[in-house]
Amino acid sequence: MECQDIRKNLYAYLEGMASPEDQELIDQHLASCRACSTALYELNRTGEVLKNLKDVEPPPWMTKKIMARVRQEAKSERGFIRKLFYPLHIKIPLEAFATVLIAVIAVYVFKAMEPEMKDLQALSQGAGHRPPRSPLSGKSSGCGNTGSPGEGCCPKEPR
Ligand SMILES: [Zn+2]
Repeated sequence: MECQDIRKNLYAYLEGMASPEDQELIDQHLASCRACSTALYELNRTGEVLKNLKDVEPPPWMTKKIMARVRQEAKSERGFIRKLFYPLHIKIPLEAFATVLIAVIAVYVFKAMEPEMKDLQALSQGAGHRPPRSPLSGKSSGCGNTGSPGEGCCPKEPR
C-alpha cells in the first residue's frame, strides 16, 4: 500500500471500520512510515477535539440573542428586500437616466430621419399633391372661388 492509500483509509482504520486485511496492512505501514503515523495522530487528535466540541453547551444568553435576531430579521425581511432591490437613492437616478436616455434616442432618431423626411416632403410636393392655388387670390387658398380676390372668398356671413 502506498502512503496515499493509507491516508484515504486512515479514518476508517481509526474508527475500526476498515476490513481486517486493510487494518493489518495499515498497521504494518504505520510501523515503518513516520509520516503516516503522524497523520494518524493528527486525525485522532482532531477527532478528539471535535468530540469535545460536541459536548460544549451554548450559554443561555446566546440562544436568546440568536432567536431575537432571527425574529427581528423575519420582521424586517420585507423592508430589507425592498431596500435591497429598490433603494430610493438608486431608483430615482435610474429613472432619470432612463428618461435622459429616451430623450437622447429620440433626438438621434429624429436627426437620422430628418433627411428622409425632407425627401418625403419634396417627393409629395413634386407629385403635385399641393392644394389648388389660384394666382389671383394670393393669401386665401383652397376655396376655389376666384371671383372676389380682395375679400375672403368663403361665405362666412349670410347675405
Ligand atoms: Zn506512509
